[in-house]
Amino acid sequence: MSIRNVLVVNAGSSSLKFMLFDMEAEQMLAKGQVERIGIENPLFTFTAGDYSEKQNLCDAPDHTAAVKLVCDALIDPAKGGCLKSFADIDAVGHRMVHGGELYSESVLLTPEVLEAFEKLSPLAPLHNPACLQGVKGCQAVLANVPHVGVFDTAFHQTMPEESYLYALPKEIYKQYGVRKYGFHGTSHKFVTLRMAEVLNKPLDEMNIITCHLGNGSSITAVKGGKCFDTSMGMTPLAGVMMGTRAGDIDPAVVLYLLKNGFSADDIDAMMNKKGGVFALGGTGSSDMRDLCSACDAGKPEAQAALARLVHSYAMYIGGYAALLGRVDAIVLTGGIGENSKETRAALLPAISGLGVTLNAEVNDTVRGIEKLISGSDSKIPVYVIPTNEELMIARETYAVTK
Ligand code: ADP
Repeated sequence: MSIRNVLVVNAGSSSLKFMLFDMEAEQMLAKGQVERIGIENPLFTFTAGDYSEKQNLCDAPDHTAAVKLVCDALIDPAKGGCLKSFADIDAVGHRMVHGGELYSESVLLTPEVLEAFEKLSPLAPLHNPACLQGVKGCQAVLANVPHVGVFDTAFHQTMPEESYLYALPKEIYKQYGVRKYGFHGTSHKFVTLRMAEVLNKPLDEMNIITCHLGNGSSITAVKGGKCFDTSMGMTPLAGVMMGTRAGDIDPAVVLYLLKNGFSADDIDAMMNKKGGVFALGGTGSSDMRDLCSACDAGKPEAQAALARLVHSYAMYIGGYAALLGRVDAIVLTGGIGENSKETRAALLPAISGLGVTLNAEVNDTVRGIEKLISGSDSKIPVYVIPTNEELMIARETYAVTK
């Protein structure tokens, strides 16, 4: 069977984001999302060519209904008419969050795979069950096409034990799977492959540090084209400071707070939803744009928060540079990496110990485009490379099903 049109689906517990790609030209044909699935007043957003509708009320009592809504829109001549019938969808690629140690590559979603994936739910109790709902909805509507799972954790499965093992009693790892897994793997892989093209270097000879900096952020050491270490851990809470997540803290803080009357839920919320830029920035927002505006306005609290954020990035980049020995490039991606010239202008001087310099003039002009932003005398080139996780999922799906 020849594969041409690939639907990429990213399902949450009450949302379903999608993009349709024509893989012959790697062209995006349509995109959108269904929000508030299974709750009051579900909303549908859809763009195809010149057609666009935003947050229209719709009927989406469950994920199956949401997928049906998406497919109906894709074949509706009044909505751009990208496809003639459901049968024009050749494969579906699913963003799956936690593949544990089972999946180091994308796989065809057979009943056995889905059963195994379900057993990984304790590792990602919010995300994996939601992914499964999305997969089941899609399989109900598009029963005759291959469905492929692309895992956020897969790229990081090449980490050696010295990177992933926590120094806890071994049975905690063996019985409970407590270890570092890492996330954003699809993005780190996308920019790694692109960097190999840009540097014109064989992938297996390339050492780079990839920084996915967005609401959630992670930094990865890529050695010989493979993940060697990454900043997120068993969960996406570990590593650098983020929009609402604290990043690394002394784990004993959790015990201290528990013993001082905070509940596990309080601490969870504090570290995941009320930490990071939101906690320290003094703007009441977790958004970098708000933090940067407050910095520009000379607000000391915001400036201190930006310094704290950049410090956490620099610590990982410096550590990974030491582990890699030779670094061929540093890559910045994600909403902040691609768009925030202020954050980049603070970060590059913070890693000047590595011989990195900033081309301030170029940096000021870079927003969402691929560009070298380091100075011509920089010992390590620093690139902004826009990520494209959906295209990566479509490519993986194409490769698995072709
Ligand atoms: P997610 O982790 O949700 O995928 P993104 O990668 O979209 O997040 O990144 C979102 C972050 O990128 C937000 O903090 C946002 O403020 C920041 N961002 C987006 N555009 C800009 C911009 N022009 N300037 C500064 N920050 C930006």
